[in-house]
Amino acid sequence: MKITNVEFVISAVKPHQYPEDALPEFALAGRSNVGKSSLINKMIMRKGLARTSSQPGKTQQLNYYRVNDSVYLVDFPGYGYARVSKAQRQQFGEMIETFLSDRKPLKMVLLIIDIRHEPSKDDCLMYDWLKHYEIPVCVVTTKADKIPKSKWDKHVKAIKQALGFRGGDRHVLFSSETGLGREALWDIINEQIEV
Ligand code: GDP
Repeated sequence: MKITNVEFVISAVKPHQYPEDALPEFALAGRSNVGKSSLINKMIMRKGLARTSSQPGKTQQLNYYRVNDSVYLVDFPGYGYARVSKAQRQQFGEMIETFLSDRKPLKMVLLIIDIRHEPSKDDCLMYDWLKHYEIPVCVVTTKADKIPKSKWDKHVKAIKQALGFRGGDRHVLFSSETGLGREALWDIINEQIEV
């Protein structure tokens, strides 16, 4: 997709700060360091716009990026950061759960997973939450360039199995390094806007 315009809109810490223009929203979830910021930067073709989401203490921020004045990418805080306190974990859980259950413009969650590793407990919990709230999911297995092509299928199969991946959900192989999957992911986003 051709990117004509990207705007970082807000780091929202409270629901009243979320945009009110009702443009479709696609949220990105994944553990810290999985490659979420790199993926956003690749999707929007802006090298440094998405900052790294993995700093502890930022567990309540939802970063909103408006793309081509038509869609929001919403960056969730990275989870699974070891040094985050119990209270911060709880805050994260409450904020995300409220968002997932209440947020009308939310069209889909892109669940970002490192293709090299089995999903973490937190990844599985996130997928279960998404299914509980009946939110469409696209699992994005990223860092595909880090393993040989011949192993992609085996890794993807194992990840889907561990998550309990449901028919109807989507999957894309991605690499922020090579751009693999970028167009496929925009196609899925654009299809989902029409649903
Ligand atoms: P975040 O914490 O999820 O936002 O992760 P970052 O986007 O900051 O990425 C974490 C690290 O993984 C950085 O060193 C990135 O350069 C690297 N990385 C992210 N995506 C890819 C990818 O697709 N391929 C490769 N080879 N490295 C990646």
